[in-house]
Amino acid sequence: MAIKVQTPTQEQINRDPRAFAIYSSATHGGKTPELKDLKELASKYGNPKAAESLSGESGELAWDTIVQALKAAPSSGFEGAKEVSEYSDGTPAVGLAALDEKSDVVPFKFTRRQPGPDDVHIQILKCGLCHSDLHQLRNEWANTVYPVVPGHEMTGIVTQVGANVTKFKVGQRAGVGCMVDSCRKCDSCKADSEQFCTAPCTFTYNGPASDGSGATTKGGYSDHIVVNEDFVLHVPDNLDLAGAAPLLCAGITVYSPLRHFKLDQPGMKLGVVGLGGLGHMAVKIGKAMGLEVTVFSTSNSKKEEALSRLGADHFVVSKDADQMKELAGTLDGILDTISADHPLPDYIQLLKLDGRIVMLGVPPTPLQLPAGVVIFGRKSVSGSLIGGIAETQEMLDFCGKHNIVADVEVVKADYINKALDRMFKADVKYRFVLDVEASLVQ
Ligand code: NAP
Ligand code: ZN
Ligand code: ZN
Repeated sequence: MAIKVQTPTQEQINRDPRAFAIYSSATHGGKTPELKDLKELASKYGNPKAAESLSGESGELAWDTIVQALKAAPSSGFEGAKEVSEYSDGTPAVGLAALDEKSDVVPFKFTRRQPGPDDVHIQILKCGLCHSDLHQLRNEWANTVYPVVPGHEMTGIVTQVGANVTKFKVGQRAGVGCMVDSCRKCDSCKADSEQFCTAPCTFTYNGPASDGSGATTKGGYSDHIVVNEDFVLHVPDNLDLAGAAPLLCAGITVYSPLRHFKLDQPGMKLGVVGLGGLGHMAVKIGKAMGLEVTVFSTSNSKKEEALSRLGADHFVVSKDADQMKELAGTLDGILDTISADHPLPDYIQLLKLDGRIVMLGVPPTPLQLPAGVVIFGRKSVSGSLIGGIAETQEMLDFCGKHNIVADVEVVKADYINKALDRMFKADVKYRFVLDVEASLVQ
């Protein structure tokens, strides 16, 4: 039975943004909710008892009834959790943090700034786990500021907008990726490459906040975030919010170099090295661009679904010297997504004349590159960092058009350390996504 639900006022939304976000995500695109859908939603994310008593007899439900049904008990583990308050007038947030480089990820409380006139307040519903989170949790890049709340692949619902905000409305789906601000004035910003802002850009977590507060930015392993509207993305309506979350980093990181280096011409031969979060997005996006895609992986374990489910054309075990030799000089480009040390020449020899390998993975130790490997064949070794905001929106729209989302394993907060450990061991197909709405409840 379709049901009419009272439209909440902004005050009601502010009182319980989580319920509003869960409800809005289930009814986005103007869907009329069915009573049975509401009950299912409530028993999944809210109060099963209140869910049972949801009744559509009157044909209309008051907003407060929805709130009661979607209200969940506060997540366990937060009593006595470490707490940091960087904004005296801020809103309380719950999240997950590492307290030092040896620490597991643990429940953590902090404050977010009050939304300013240009800000969007987003209730986070899902957040992807990127290998960069792991590098930084463990201080492998030697720049982590603890406590660190990682997460830069988040999707959710807009629950408040500042007075000057024009691009977003309350109730819309929204995404936030790796950056939350930049100077807007330097050559990189003017060229829509905010990730290379000379100021530099403000990364979503583990960076100095750009609001003058002295706070350190905190990411999407948390229940909400406040971001300047220029750094918030629209998530296409047809994409599942869990599957879309990893597009905000993994998706743009592979999309941007394919476009920038013109490795996106249909029929080109692309190598994807490492079939993890980034790698599997490279296969999907590369195939949608019309490329012939060969995956290079450390074992045969991902072969079957790389070919059948992800749509790769060829699969090579990189340790197999004969297979590697056979492909010498055949590829136009390679996206290298390996997160650990590995020999570059083995892959560069696969490139054609003038071919290019783009380094996306950030292993903790320097790579070794004998000059002859690039001199013969006039080959290039490049790097690429995520993508600009306009390009990220372009990528999301491209994925919407081609119905591309990440293959995800959705996990709750109590599984986070196990998930990170499995990611370290390359035991994930192909991205863990934290179920924020189900497991980070105030
Ligand atoms: P991921 O899901 O853990 O995937 C990495 C893949 O690399 C693994 O699935 C595995 O693929 C392969 N691999 C891991 N250890 C290896 C080893 N010792 N030798 C050979 N191959 C190995 O990681 P991700 O999230 O895709 O991120 C990959 C890298 O990109 C990380 O270093 C991350 O920090 C970096 N990153 C960079 C950017 C950027 O803007 N440049 C953005 C996001 C992430 P197989 O199982 O197929 O062998
Ligand atoms: Zn990332
Ligand atoms: Zn700039």
